[in-house]
Amino acid sequence: MEIKNVLFSEQELNQIVVRTAADIDSVLKRDKVNSLTVICVLRGAFVFTADLVRNIDLNDIRIEFVSASSYGGGTVSSGEVHMDFLNDIEIKGKNILVVEDIADTGRTLKKLTEAIKAKEPDNVWVAAMFDKPERRTVEFEPDFIGAKIPDEFIVGYGLDFDGRYRNLPYVAVLGFE
Ligand code: 5GP
Ligand code: MG
Repeated sequence: MEIKNVLFSEQELNQIVVRTAADIDSVLKRDKVNSLTVICVLRGAFVFTADLVRNIDLNDIRIEFVSASSYGGGTVSSGEVHMDFLNDIEIKGKNILVVEDIADTGRTLKKLTEAIKAKEPDNVWVAAMFDKPERRTVEFEPDFIGAKIPDEFIVGYGLDFDGRYRNLPYVAVLGFE
């Protein structure tokens, strides 16, 4: 496997972050929300979350982490969703923003938001850095989307292939050389 074309440069990713944070700001202002718990979905969303929280116009933010994934080691979704650390997070009566790397089939975010809603938060929103709408197998729409992308396997800016390439400051398509 090789890194192919760059899909989003560092500068384009910054524009995505700033735009997504502005979208979030306007909803928080509209709904008069002045404190937020951001739940970063490990591990792919860690870079996006770090950049996003520094662009949201709110001082009172807590940052929590869950581990959720429906992928094994490869590029094909296994269908099963594993979740960890959710029970350690205070959710009841809180305003929750889940930050995920990619909405793909939608299974991970659907399962995760259902589990969060069962704990009676005041609000739950979902921000996905990327959306692959054509891949959806369950009904799920993120509230905030950084960018829609075609059905290609991407790496970089937190996203891995088999644990590698999360460090790349850009997002690139992975493919056979
Ligand atoms: P879903 O439950 O929506 O099928 O799975 C979404 C998860 O699959 C994402 O959080 C991400 O971890 C992984 N995923 C989906 N597409 C890609 C991709 O193009 N590249 C990488 N690295 N992971 C992906
Ligand atoms: Mg993931």
